[in-house]
Amino acid sequence: MKPEFLFVPGPVNVPRRVALAEARDVIYHRGEEFAELLKSVDAKLKRVFRTENTILYFTSSGTGAMEACVANLLNSNDEVLVIEGGKFGQRWRELCQAFHVKHHVITLDWGRAIHPQQIAEALDKHPTISALFIQLSETSTGTVYDLESIAKITDKRDILFIVDAISGLGVVPLEPDKWGVDCVIAGSQKSLMVPPGLAFVSVSERAWQRVAKSDLPKYYWDFNAAKKNLYFTPFTPAISLIMALDEALNIILEEGVENLLAHTELYARATRAAVTAMGLKLFSERPGAVCTAISVPVGLNSKEILEGLRRDFGIKISGGQDHLKGKILRIGHIGDIGPKDLFGVIAALELTLHKLGYKLELGVGVRAAMEVFAES
Ligand SMILES: *Cc1c(COP(=O)(O)O)cnc(C)c1O
Repeated sequence: MKPEFLFVPGPVNVPRRVALAEARDVIYHRGEEFAELLKSVDAKLKRVFRTENTILYFTSSGTGAMEACVANLLNSNDEVLVIEGGKFGQRWRELCQAFHVKHHVITLDWGRAIHPQQIAEALDKHPTISALFIQLSETSTGTVYDLESIAKITDKRDILFIVDAISGLGVVPLEPDKWGVDCVIAGSQKSLMVPPGLAFVSVSERAWQRVAKSDLPKYYWDFNAAKKNLYFTPFTPAISLIMALDEALNIILEEGVENLLAHTELYARATRAAVTAMGLKLFSERPGAVCTAISVPVGLNSKEILEGLRRDFGIKISGGQDHLKGKILRIGHIGDIGPKDLFGVIAALELTLHKLGYKLELGVGVRAAMEVFAES
């Protein structure tokens, strides 16, 4: 059977060049060749992160790096603020619980975006808070937060600003050094177009000062150990994935960091125009470039839509997580996707909905997407 074409917000379609790089002979990770490879990866990844801060490399999924941030940046008597607007904000809260860190939570209805003023108010009310945990793109709802405005609030008050950019890195604007974001977390399997298994964290000077004071337990995730062995990593790294990442970064830099942002945003904009023209409702209040979340129309069953797309077109899009299961669909815009694929998924969605009895004029979504392309 042909593999499904992935229109999900991770893991994503991997370019052939990246897959071939991953298939190369494994090299020894304590030799100079590996250090040279990781140095070259590091210089390129810093351009995608848009930071001069140290980037640490972990062999894990993205959540491992989230846990590493909690374990390394905090002290047992710290108090932190968590923004919970979906599945991944919830993960920050659960990590704080797991480490017994006192945490305040701003809970948003899923699909809503945090208003920066809400953060300012929470910090005023609890002046003992010393760190903020948030997402760049809350992938479970397709919502992007206004981190530039939020950074102005945290920077003034010396609040450590920790951003889960696992899905958003490279496709949603983020300027860690300009804005004062202390830690940025990313994973290999989203916009970086590499299979799952690598996680990254950038660590600012201010964050390293907190690391020095941290008393929470860690071993595998120890930032100091990772820094000490920067270009070898403390443990056996996923060498093949690092080779794949090197090639993925070549592709990204050939396209240009700005162009990757622009084309992903264009795909998202075209998709939003298409589904709106089809009479569907966008789920998110502040939709971003990673994925477009759509409310499932009343009377239709999301399982049937997902199954139709898979069976008739070999296309995989995502449903919702937790209480959004059955309520939303998510179309991803990251990974190895071109305009022809984008028009394909919109046409496939139109036909699938039509078959299931949803009233629409066939072609109306594709046409709206074409108009967005024509104007761009
Ligand atoms: C995918 C994702 C994660 C989880 O990453 P894993 O690699 O599955 O551990 C965390 N946060 C966001 C925003 C994500 O999109």
